[in-house]
Amino acid sequence: MQYRGGIDLGGTKIQAVVVDEAHRIVAQNRCATPSSGGPQAVARAMAQALRDAASQAGVDTGHLAGIGVGSPGHVDSAEGTVARAGNLPDWQAPFPLSAALSELLGPPVFLGNDVGVAVDGEARLGAGRAYDSFLGVFWGTGVGGGVVLGRKRWLGRGASGEIGHMIVRRNGARCPCGRRGCVEAYAGRRAMEARARRDVERGAKTTLFKIMEKKGRSQLSSGVFAKALESGDEYAIRLIERAVEALGAGIASACNLLDVEAVVIGGGLGTRLGDPYAKRISEAMLPHLFTPERPPRVQVVQLGDLAGALGASLLVPGSAGNAEQARRSESSAHVEPPAPHGHPGQPGRPMTKR
Ligand SMILES: [Zn+2]
Repeated sequence: MQYRGGIDLGGTKIQAVVVDEAHRIVAQNRCATPSSGGPQAVARAMAQALRDAASQAGVDTGHLAGIGVGSPGHVDSAEGTVARAGNLPDWQAPFPLSAALSELLGPPVFLGNDVGVAVDGEARLGAGRAYDSFLGVFWGTGVGGGVVLGRKRWLGRGASGEIGHMIVRRNGARCPCGRRGCVEAYAGRRAMEARARRDVERGAKTTLFKIMEKKGRSQLSSGVFAKALESGDEYAIRLIERAVEALGAGIASACNLLDVEAVVIGGGLGTRLGDPYAKRISEAMLPHLFTPERPPRVQVVQLGDLAGALGASLLVPGSAGNAEQARRSESSAHVEPPAPHGHPGQPGRPMTKR
């Protein structure tokens, strides 16, 4: 049996998996992303995360066929470097991540963009298997995405799929990207947190920050938002409604252009809030759809927060044929797929107000 490694490098956590030839996860491990020490410290933590997963699987990392890595920032797959990874410590100049990991672990290392590999993971092993065309939307700290057309990810000139920077309001709220009125300015976790902090300073009442402290967090994580929503925090409910409206408008605009079969929602908030919110996004899209009588199906990812690491493992050459095999044998269902949503209600009905 030949095993591969996959690592999803995130701003807050590192997820590592060891997979077999049929893309089954044989071991996994996750750790916090170092917040200091620069790229070297991050590379060491990534190596350790994979080493721990491999030892659980009873495999020496040196015997892996290869290791795929999904990374944020500017990824140069050919050079094996990552630059300008804004959420990671002191990581501006290009750092040779492939070479560093290869030296620590042994096998060749292949790099891809974090959201791109997660969309590929869903396309080949998850929710996207059912569709020729879909839009992947990763709703988390930011709002990332990917476009799959004819079962292949549309890369453009390397920067396609930025669903988070579709404009939903000209001269609207300031986006973390520096522009105005993007989806992410309303729906990104980081942008929502900044707004909540400003509003609280101005006297807004919310339990968000109390929940954050109770959970021992320093940020409004997806779990903090989920808890506040469950407890009926009206401020949090309005903030998330605003996010859903922005996502609905932005995703619908993209669908008007591409007419994809489905929208697959993932990311920290997307997976944490799950099906009920996929349904709300679907409803928020309806008034903006050019053909509301046949809206795309909206569903959550099937690989959950392992999509990135699994998708990264597909970067290792030779894994493509295996994906076909896995699809045929259905043996790749690591996570039981939830029943997909039908499109809600009557087409063209007004948006639900809560
Ligand atoms: Zn933007």
